Amino acid sequence: MLPPHVMSVEQAGEQYRTQLFAQCAQGIHDPDTKYGVCGIITAVVCFPIGLICLFTDTEQRCHRCGVRLDK
Ligand SMILES: [Zn+2]
Repeated sequence: MLPPHVMSVEQAGEQYRTQLFAQCAQGIHDPDTKYGVCGIITAVVCFPIGLICLFTDTEQRCHRCGVRLDK
């Protein structure tokens, strides 16, 4: 049997996570820009022209649920 305060912390954490994912469910995501490996390599090899590839080879993903966000 766990002491009551441990239970409340766990419940608070669970509630916090549920609230964050509830935002995702409503379409309010936490965007996180990821650069593709190809883009990074091209940017380094073909600097500075390769930077164009770097910025084309990006995708936005939600930091919380990992869903891909299309603009
Ligand atoms: Zn999300």
